[in-house]
Amino acid sequence: MPIQLLPPEVADKIAAGEVVERPASVVKELVENSIDAGATDIRIEIRDGGRRLIRVADNGCGIPADEVALAFARHATSKLSRVADLDGIATLGFRGEALPSIAAVSQVALLTRPREQAIGRYLRVEGGQITRQEGRGSPAGTVVTVEQLFYNVPARLKFLRQPQTETGHIHQVVTHYALAFPTIRFHLIADDRQLFQSAGNGDRYDVLIAILGLEVAEQMLALEEPEELPAGPSVSGFVGSPTLHRANRHYLSFFVNRRWVQDRSLSHAVVEAYHTLLPVGRQPVAVLFVELDPGEVDVNVHPTKREVRFRDGQKVFAAVQRAVRRTLVERAPMPHPPWAGPSGSTWPSPARPAPGWGWERRQAILSAGQEEPLTGQMAMDWYRPADREQEPQPVGPVRLPLLRVVGQVGQTYIVAEGPQGLYLIDQHAAHERVLYERMMAEHRRQGVTSQSLLEPLLLDLDPILAGVLADQLDQLNQIGFDVEPFGGTSYLLRAVPSLLAGPDIQAAVVDILEMLRLGDDPLAVQAEERLIAAVCKRAAVKAGQTLSHEEMQRLVRQLEECESPRTCPHGRPTVIHFSVERLEREFGRR
Ligand code: ADP
Ligand code: MG
Repeated sequence: MPIQLLPPEVADKIAAGEVVERPASVVKELVENSIDAGATDIRIEIRDGGRRLIRVADNGCGIPADEVALAFARHATSKLSRVADLDGIATLGFRGEALPSIAAVSQVALLTRPREQAIGRYLRVEGGQITRQEGRGSPAGTVVTVEQLFYNVPARLKFLRQPQTETGHIHQVVTHYALAFPTIRFHLIADDRQLFQSAGNGDRYDVLIAILGLEVAEQMLALEEPEELPAGPSVSGFVGSPTLHRANRHYLSFFVNRRWVQDRSLSHAVVEAYHTLLPVGRQPVAVLFVELDPGEVDVNVHPTKREVRFRDGQKVFAAVQRAVRRTLVERAPMPHPPWAGPSGSTWPSPARPAPGWGWERRQAILSAGQEEPLTGQMAMDWYRPADREQEPQPVGPVRLPLLRVVGQVGQTYIVAEGPQGLYLIDQHAAHERVLYERMMAEHRRQGVTSQSLLEPLLLDLDPILAGVLADQLDQLNQIGFDVEPFGGTSYLLRAVPSLLAGPDIQAAVVDILEMLRLGDDPLAVQAEERLIAAVCKRAAVKAGQTLSHEEMQRLVRQLEECESPRTCPHGRPTVIHFSVERLEREFGRR
């Protein structure tokens, strides 16, 4: 097909699809506009998770009457005029696409008045077309009302989650901007209930308390004053003391020049800074602000502007890691992992086995143009993918032989011996597999055994997790939970799958909801299997837990009896096998 210009109505929707993924994207764009307009008070009102209504009202600079219509034209912006401006963007918006993209997929009304004008301007846009325009009385500032989002894009409507989930995402957007701009007063009202409010007094810690609650906020350590580095990135914010941790990395928030961004390498920098300070498998909580010269960061990378590119990523990474680590070392107690020496030296990372000769040999043969008959071990080497040659191979999807437990390494792996060599078993992954097959079998036969709580437990969840629970309520009640809505973001829990019975059920349920929250992934298997996998992951023995010889032996027996013993329910290997041949080769016996 030849390259062609898309008709405008198509182009509108494609761009909208990128910028406006869900109601929270609309809120993000409108709030960014209000911030760019210099507002000190921003009020966000939503209905039905934003699907029916999103209204953002600010007391910012307003739009002059003769420019209002232009604001809805694609690539119309007041924030940049030349290509060179792109190299140092100091505003949140700059693409001139938000208003037209939103207007293309909803019904928008805009009422605006700059302080110096006597009368305001009202504009209505439906499906991208301006349908009404008139002068109107208006407070100074701008009110944008978005109704019937995606009314003309059924495919997008289908992907919207329960209103509670969408509200949760909106809550996240608003709270993050409130953190980044503590001098602005934010209000979020969902279906006439106030969900969040910040004081706008400039104190970031007050905002943190409003978001996390006092109990959690008290476990956050303020980063030390950034040292003055000429032109270097400065890092400020809060990091959780090591007593505070979560099941995943969702509680790491990053702002670059006060823009809320997602960046794996920054997450990684923080997680690294906590090395050995948190229990295995747990993730830290942090809110970090990186400030650097706008010329040092490219924000024009992604339509939603949630990703940025640093000119010198390594420098930013190092600055973040240093700042976090310094705060932790100075302010937090430093426990040693049980297997580290008294000097605090950490467990040596497992040395990679030396490269076998298969790959090099093959290269040599190929480059010499030689033909060599393939026999025995060499033929085996040929079948092994070259790039995995250096890694011990996870073994295939067949049953395990009978194994004899030799011992435990790093409180994480079980060492076992079998007829074909050495087996390293990941105790957590193996136990997950065992529990998963049992629970699935129960679920298919008579239903999962459930344990009633002595007293019903009131779960008071944050809006995001409440949304996750609302989304999965029916399925959870199919797999041994007994949970019902109790108004707002509260739920009443009466029973849990027996596997979860034990102390601190509340924490267990929260961890499971956290795991499910990651489950937007369309590749995921059936909902109930996914839930069962999450329950088993939470119930399984953890890495870092000492097991007795009997416990290890029992676990290995149970693993041997599994249908698919070689992977955990999430597809990671449970067992790594070093064949006798391989050991001999590595030791130069062959
Ligand atoms: P961008 O923010 O990338 O410039 P938008 O489509 O979001 O593009 O907005 C277009 C223009 O409309 C902005 O450049 C700004 O001049 C004006 N505008 C939008 N929202 C507001 C607001 N709340 N207050 C003042 N001006 C606004
Ligand atoms: Mg904008």
